[in-house]
Amino acid sequence: MRNTLNEPAGQEMKPVVFCDFDGTITQLDVTDQILSQLAHPSWREIEQQWMQGLIGSRECLERQIALVDAPVEELHAAIDVVALDSEFSAFCKFARKKRVPLFILSDGFDYVIRRVLKRAGVDRQFKSGTNLFASSLRVEGRRLAPSFPYLPAPCAHGCATCKATLISTLREGRAPVVFVGDGMSDRFAVEFADIVFAKRHLLAYCRENGIACHPFETFKDVQVTLEKLLAPAPVRGYRQAVAALS
Ligand SMILES: [Mg+2]
Ligand SMILES: [Zn+2]
Repeated sequence: MRNTLNEPAGQEMKPVVFCDFDGTITQLDVTDQILSQLAHPSWREIEQQWMQGLIGSRECLERQIALVDAPVEELHAAIDVVALDSEFSAFCKFARKKRVPLFILSDGFDYVIRRVLKRAGVDRQFKSGTNLFASSLRVEGRRLAPSFPYLPAPCAHGCATCKATLISTLREGRAPVVFVGDGMSDRFAVEFADIVFAKRHLLAYCRENGIACHPFETFKDVQVTLEKLLAPAPVRGYRQAVAALS
């Protein structure tokens, strides 16, 4: 088990939740859907370079998004058919009620994410640069122009949005750090989490690398675990409470 438990001062339980977007909040990777429908097929060759670790996600996205050539109506249509995790809206309400900070960290694009969150009725709960950190996208006619506001200087991993750096900055001493994700772009983030929920590529990565994680299907699974964590348990210390979830 490579995860280290960052024990908070005073044994106080102050969980903070960081979520990936594509394939985690949505059932499919929206960026992949846009590329497969609207970009030149060579986007897949660039994807392979990224999967093989030859390029970082920032370079990957920059080169891929440059291959999109379509009217904005087609972009919206591609976004609007992607299904969400059916439990995500309920999870947002739960987090707000319990005052658990909830962040979305994504290599994907704010333009796309905001449109999906609006459909889920939770867009007002997320503000770019406050609790939504993603790549930026400007629509210029039939073309899309990406930029990467978080962080402006590329990280050592070459991330579009460096989840590892953002978790370190945004957690502000709170613990346990909960991370929910599904993909290869999450592999640097899990090293900074105490409790990992994983599916698909991230689940395989965690298993291959001996990183403790909870397999999950929907955000209901995450909520059930957090409810246990937040339940009053006066006889249990912080470490016991977190260990009991494993
Ligand atoms: Mg993902
Ligand atoms: Zn990074």
